[in-house]
Amino acid sequence: MPERSHQGHRRPPAALPGPALWQPARRCRSGRLVCPVEGCTSPAITTRKGFTNGRGTFVPDGFRHLRVPQPRHEPERFNHLQAKLMVQGWMLSRGFSDVATERHDRGSGRTPDVSGTSPGGLRVAFEVQYATLSVNVFERRDEALASGGWVPIWLWGHRGTGDQVELRAVHQHLLAQGRRLW
Ligand SMILES: [Zn+2]
Repeated sequence: MPERSHQGHRRPPAALPGPALWQPARRCRSGRLVCPVEGCTSPAITTRKGFTNGRGTFVPDGFRHLRVPQPRHEPERFNHLQAKLMVQGWMLSRGFSDVATERHDRGSGRTPDVSGTSPGGLRVAFEVQYATLSVNVFERRDEALASGGWVPIWLWGHRGTGDQVELRAVHQHLLAQGRRLW
């Protein structure tokens, strides 16, 4: 028999106790914790206690905007941002130098999502690609980076939470060339 809260919802084992929300709540109010999405029209956020949604799924404690931004953030946009920060963190942890996100590179005319120089001196440009890309556009961007002296690494964004990945034309194209999909 699951333990039930006073609202009659199943209490999840992973729910944070009340005080865990308190510290971020203070930082939200002071403006030290804001929405990380660039260009957000309403960056003030606040904490939100976990709740059970209409489908009976528990949504854990988290954050929400005080006012809904316009346009709303698509989940893919958030995933893209998160992926960039993960790649940046990984590069720094591996001793890359000169690491930056969204830095324009004159040589290639491109602004790779994350770029930096490996400990061995390789200039590596990561592109986190969620939006659909045609084969032609992909090749142009890939070649531009390579001709600018970068090792381009493309990371293909997922959709949904399942373990299935939709292979689009550009992915088929890469597989046909014997290249690996990341
Ligand atoms: Zn926002």
